[in-house]
Amino acid sequence: MMLTPSHHFRDIERKPQYLQPDRCVPPPRLSAVGTMWFIRDGCGIACAIVTWFLVLYAEFVVLFVMLIPSHDYAYSIINGIVFNLLAFLALASHCRAMLTDPGAVPKGNATKEFIESLQLKPGQVVYKCPKCCSIKPDRAHHCSVCKRCIRKMDHHCPWVNNCVGENNQKYFVLFTMYIALISFHALVMVGFHFLYCFEEDWTKCSSFSPPTTVILLILLCFEGLLFLIFTSVMFGTQVHSICTDETGIEQLKKEERRWAKKTKWMNMKAVFGHPFSLGWASPFATPDQGKADPYQYVV
Ligand SMILES: [Zn+2]
Ligand SMILES: [Zn+2]
Repeated sequence: MMLTPSHHFRDIERKPQYLQPDRCVPPPRLSAVGTMWFIRDGCGIACAIVTWFLVLYAEFVVLFVMLIPSHDYAYSIINGIVFNLLAFLALASHCRAMLTDPGAVPKGNATKEFIESLQLKPGQVVYKCPKCCSIKPDRAHHCSVCKRCIRKMDHHCPWVNNCVGENNQKYFVLFTMYIALISFHALVMVGFHFLYCFEEDWTKCSSFSPPTTVILLILLCFEGLLFLIFTSVMFGTQVHSICTDETGIEQLKKEERRWAKKTKWMNMKAVFGHPFSLGWASPFATPDQGKADPYQYVV
């Protein structure tokens, strides 16, 4: 899942007079308002489609191999509702993680007017990204896939075809959590189904032939195990980096901390919203990040 930008992280460290603002022209405002954030990256789009396909495969096996042929209706209905709800929340989180601007710094904002408006003191240092011609706020990094500087960039995730940054980290964490939960749920159901089929007649435990049933279930088992491990490790790593308020890139670089240390709970609220509510688990609730200052420059 980690695609670390291979380029150097801090690009140009210069005093304002050397930022060459004349070379920076803001891009034409064609793509500014009203357009959806979507990264046109072939590999990322393919990975995102594979993710959806795998969830739909699990959905198919759970419904048509295990739950619908079962004669225990209460078991089928309860598990069907839980599984479908979790799968729906996982896919909704995936969409929000993919289609939310992760915190892109305006392209080409390193203009003369903008640099003057910052009212920099003599000796104060700002960073300019030479690739997208923008003045970088502190903790922003350039992503070579998105071709933009992203605030609090954690990593670029091809599975959600987007960077994980300040504005979409919540959806990414929810995505890993719901995928881990459906994987676990599917594994438990496969376990029960195998037990049931060994006791009963194999021809009655599925509407498919016994060999097809076994192959479908074993594939689901592999998929569930792989994704349970992968997403629960990712979920743990993400929650840890949120609590310590240190992005994946900052941990890799062992950057010196220049930002204020806050409590774990405050850091969680900064990502998931304030105050604590059911909305933390909902991919539809947009966390309130109005208090975050988008332009904090290194002094
Ligand atoms: Zn950049
Ligand atoms: Zn990116």
